[in-house]
Amino acid sequence: MTPLIVGGGPAGAAAAITLARADVLPHLIERTSGEHDVVCGGFLGWDALALLGRLGIDTTALGARPITRLRLIAGKRRIEAPLPHAAAGLSRRSLDAALLAAAERAGAEVTRGVTVRSADPQRRRVRLHDDSEIACDALLLATGKHELRGVARPLADRRDSLAVGLRAALPPSPARQAALADTIELHLFDQGYAGLLLQEDGTANLCLSVSQQRLTAAAGPAALLAELANELPTLAERLGPDLPAPISAIAGVPYGWSAGTTTAGLFRLGDQGAVIASLAGDGIAMALAGGIGAAEALLAEGPDAAEAWQAGFARRTARQRRLAEMLRHGAERRLGRAALMALLRLAPGLITPATHLTRTH
Ligand SMILES: Cc1cc2nc3c(=O)[nH]c(=O)nc-3n(C[C@H](O)[C@H](O)[C@H](O)COP(=O)(O)OP(=O)(O)OC[C@H]3O[C@@H](n4cnc5c(N)ncnc54)[C@H](O)[C@@H]3O)c2cc1C
Repeated sequence: MTPLIVGGGPAGAAAAITLARADVLPHLIERTSGEHDVVCGGFLGWDALALLGRLGIDTTALGARPITRLRLIAGKRRIEAPLPHAAAGLSRRSLDAALLAAAERAGAEVTRGVTVRSADPQRRRVRLHDDSEIACDALLLATGKHELRGVARPLADRRDSLAVGLRAALPPSPARQAALADTIELHLFDQGYAGLLLQEDGTANLCLSVSQQRLTAAAGPAALLAELANELPTLAERLGPDLPAPISAIAGVPYGWSAGTTTAGLFRLGDQGAVIASLAGDGIAMALAGGIGAAEALLAEGPDAAEAWQAGFARRTARQRRLAEMLRHGAERRLGRAALMALLRLAPGLITPATHLTRTH
């Protein structure tokens, strides 16, 4: 069997490791040529940590910062609570590099610096940027937030509700070290949120999710950050006097979407298969679980297992994605935010089921 994996993020790498460990050596094609930053919060929940352990990734050795507390801030209201299990903060630069190295060590053929231009699932072929073609028995599509011609996600009817992700690194500072030690901090605002956590090198990862409308109204990422610093005093304190630069962006994020169907031989992994609201901090776990699950289905039943596996994965993640969407919609609106914060102040114990129910099982 010759499986081809397009995309070397958590989903593609998890599939590659799982296949290679079973002596079915896949070919993985990743367009970046080396270590790179990713627009992502870098929060690893306990489910992601368990899945990474299964894949042989030692996040402690990579310097992941432990996270044991959640702090929610909405304007002047603030709630802090322990997480039910230990989580961690790690840059995607380190995580993705470690996963791809593990895939190579397991025996996968990893080609970097090559972009796949299009795919034809019926003919089970992909076309590369130089117009050459590669044939395969099974195509594992793991291009994340990026669409591939021929197999793009049908998102036309969601155009008005797509979100934008923004990310910047904040340099190490004693104030941020003290404020963010052991903590994931979420600042809620109209039409989005900003997440902050410490990374392995002492920098803080600042990651925002915001509606396209609010970003456009603010006239771009830097102007939006300046606007938020005026609106949110604690966020302004965390940012300090200088707004971060550069700010990376990724547009068109379809929170809540899933691929219920596919064609024989085409497995849609990670964000190409199901997207959970980033506020829940579980996209990496879902990508890892999807990569492992699809590879196991392929090993057990061959390429024709794709359709049943895809439908099953959409079903199994439905409740988790729905709850994350409810929390996101609540947190993005002024009244919903006030109600959410009031409810959590009265019953902080609700944070435990909410964090559990948005995890990947
Ligand atoms: C703002 C924001 C914050 C988030 N924060 C968190 C968080 O804190 N914790 C969490 O668990 N999840 C978070 N997520 C979700 C998480 O980032 C994704 O769910 C996860 O990265 C999906 O993994 P993936 O492997 O499917 O895709 P990706 O991580 O996007 O990887 C896809 C890979 O495919 C490659 N690629 C793309 N196109 C091609 C091509 N044509 N040819 C070859 N290679 C290609 C890319 O270079 C990339 O390496 C966040 C998402 C957003 C938008």
